[in-house]
Amino acid sequence: MEFRLSDEERAFQEAARRFGDRVLRPHERQIDADGRIPPEVLAAMAELGLLAMPVPEAYGGMGASAVLTELAAEEVGRGDFSMATAVFFLLEAGWGHILARHGTEEAKQELLPAVTAGRAFLGIATTEPTGGSDLANLRTTARRDGDRFLLRGEKAFVSGVEEAKRLGGGHLTLAKADGGGFDFLYVPTRTDGITTQRFENMGRMGISTGGLSYADAAVPAKYLIGSERRGFDCAMEGFSVARTFVSAACVGAAERALETGIAYIRERRAFGQPLGKFEAIQFELVDLYTQVEAVKWQCRRAAWLLDEYTLKGDATHRSEVDLAVAAVKLTAPQVAFEAVKRVMMWFGAAGYTKEVGLELGLRGIMSYLVGAEGGLNIMRIILGRELLGKEFVPYK
Ligand SMILES: Cc1cc2nc3c(=O)[nH]c(=O)nc-3n(C[C@H](O)[C@H](O)[C@H](O)COP(=O)(O)OP(=O)(O)OC[C@H]3O[C@@H](n4cnc5c(N)ncnc54)[C@H](O)[C@@H]3O)c2cc1C
Repeated sequence: MEFRLSDEERAFQEAARRFGDRVLRPHERQIDADGRIPPEVLAAMAELGLLAMPVPEAYGGMGASAVLTELAAEEVGRGDFSMATAVFFLLEAGWGHILARHGTEEAKQELLPAVTAGRAFLGIATTEPTGGSDLANLRTTARRDGDRFLLRGEKAFVSGVEEAKRLGGGHLTLAKADGGGFDFLYVPTRTDGITTQRFENMGRMGISTGGLSYADAAVPAKYLIGSERRGFDCAMEGFSVARTFVSAACVGAAERALETGIAYIRERRAFGQPLGKFEAIQFELVDLYTQVEAVKWQCRRAAWLLDEYTLKGDATHRSEVDLAVAAVKLTAPQVAFEAVKRVMMWFGAAGYTKEVGLELGLRGIMSYLVGAEGGLNIMRIILGRELLGKEFVPYK
């Protein structure tokens, strides 16, 4: 067992932290207010290799390990506290990896260099207006028609709909296949027969969330991910990867909240002494630190498992990976939310202001409590299934 980061990992972590401090922090308010990540920030991310990190160098990526990507996700979550840049980062990383591993050679050559350069957006579209948790019962259909698929249906609450329209790009999209099973297809947003809608969110404003409607939208067969009717497993693999990076971003945000809180309770005085001298507050800090530290290592272990097995296409440890990923995705957003909330309270009235800025994190992290990348109860169902056996899953 080796807990020390390698020299390469340490150097990249430091570079990502500098990027967070010098580029993301100064822009986070603007990202939240303008509802988009400025092009110069995306360009700087691309330059550092932060877009779709696990994609192999042959397609413009850096072929990063899940551990290295996890370390970078922590820093992006710490840098842009609104979580918008973290969402952009992790979507490209998670779904870029899936396209690189399961896409056709033609699609990879066409799409991935643009994604890694920040010239195209790549996201995931599984959720529908009728629900996102019960994926096996989704309604969008893909019908094979020669060398294309015709897509009919509707997706909802999909991240990056506006970005894919503006920059170019699209979403890996799960649909019921003709003759059973699921097809997983890269669907360019600028396709005839696709209309989009933007939803108004309460947080992580710098990346859009919206709906997509497909009226026999024609998708070339070269955009098939994995094989026909067997797309569900590719989507689940992508969720394992993306959920690990979501959790890492939550760790980074939680650490930033604690750093902000520590600086404040050292200085702010009440009843003649710094707030940090009151045990009620000091012990809260200690408890939060312990939880954040635990979830950080839980997260790094999940990334390590992805490197050992999932990213190599080795499904032999699937249960161990599923347990680790679901456990960290269940815990990290809750710990981060609690850390931000508690630190806000240490600030008293100032914590409630935009100037202190803790509300940015609170609004962003909340997206992971309500459902983004899978609701908390869905993580609990996965954990229950792995601990007790499939026969204990509370639905068919
Ligand atoms: C900001 C944001 C961005 C998102 N981005 C994307 C995206 O890019 N692509 C995409 O496809 N989706 C995206 N989603 C949607 C997300 O995947 C869904 O919110 C999630 O899957 C839950 O689906 P739902 O919201 O329809 O809730 P539902 O499935 O209707 O569930 C509602 C609630 O009930 C709980 N629940 C459901 N089933 C059970 C059960 N069996 N037992 C106990 N509790 C249960 C859920 O955990 C949830 O809390 C995004 C969501 C948000 C908030």
